Amino acid sequence: ATPTALMVGTNRAAKLGVLLKNGEVLQKMTTVTTVVFDKTGTITTGQPVVTDIIGDDPQQVLQVAASLEKDSEHPLASAIMERAQADHVAVQAVADFMAHSGQGVMARLNGKPALIGNAKLTKNLAMKSSFQDQLRKLQAQAKTVVIVGYAGQVIGLIAIQDTPQPQAQAAIAALKKQGMQTVMLTGDSHRVAQAIAQQVGIDEVLAEVSPNEKANQIAALRHQGVVAFVGDGINDAPALTMADVGIAMGSGTDIAIESGDVVLVHNDLYGVVKALAISRKTFSRIK
Ligand code: ADP
Ligand code: MG
Repeated sequence: ATPTALMVGTNRAAKLGVLLKNGEVLQKMTTVTTVVFDKTGTITTGQPVVTDIIGDDPQQVLQVAASLEKDSEHPLASAIMERAQADHVAVQAVADFMAHSGQGVMARLNGKPALIGNAKLTKNLAMKSSFQDQLRKLQAQAKTVVIVGYAGQVIGLIAIQDTPQPQAQAAIAALKKQGMQTVMLTGDSHRVAQAIAQQVGIDEVLAEVSPNEKANQIAALRHQGVVAFVGDGINDAPALTMADVGIAMGSGTDIAIESGDVVLVHNDLYGVVKALAISRKTFSRIK
């Protein structure tokens, strides 16, 4: 590739909101076979909203949840804090706050153990069968469900919906048309991941993957092909680095933008399609 051709390609991409770290990545992109997407904040908008609060005392469920989440930086936490504010639920002070990455948070509230998170975090708490049924039903609706525990028992569930990006479906359809394998990688439950994958047309789902495991999953996929990973940097910066081509959402964290080879400035997933198209065009002209 001549330096001029690379510059032309890089500039064309930039005009479309696709920033390339260097000319090398442009060439690498021509070889990509597999595109892996993070779910939260990448396939979805990352602006989740609380839709359902289940429990004998929903007000108490929300109060415990908000008290636990006020010091958490997770997008699910902001959804819960917004709902608590809207419902005028007062937040209580907690002690011994501890965030468990990819699982949830724990603390003491009124001297009693309190926690909020996924089934892994709450595995030692008994959950009545009506909650189990509700949990499955809400997850099948593509809602992320967090379990709220207090004083040794599950007191309720909070369902949170994060809708797919407007361009997700079209971008994935275009990638599949080009013969790309599409994969979703997430820490969320299998049921929710499947439901969202189905909405946007992604073929393969890797769910309940802990933040530490995400890079290993990318490494495994690299044995079968050339892998691009699209993420927002929340729990997935190592995966961005591990991929052959790391693509960071523009709204992502600073670390994502640093770790990525490509940055989608407008946060538009269709940028992935544009980036791959420009790379092919750049190199076919030269041959
Ligand atoms: P993703 O891969 O979709 O970005 P994470 O790895 O950040 O998801 O989290 C995985 C799961 O752990 C979430 O779906 C949620 O059930 C639980 N979780 C993580 N952090 C929190 C939190 N602060 N509050 C409640 N639940 C949480
Ligand atoms: Mg994420």
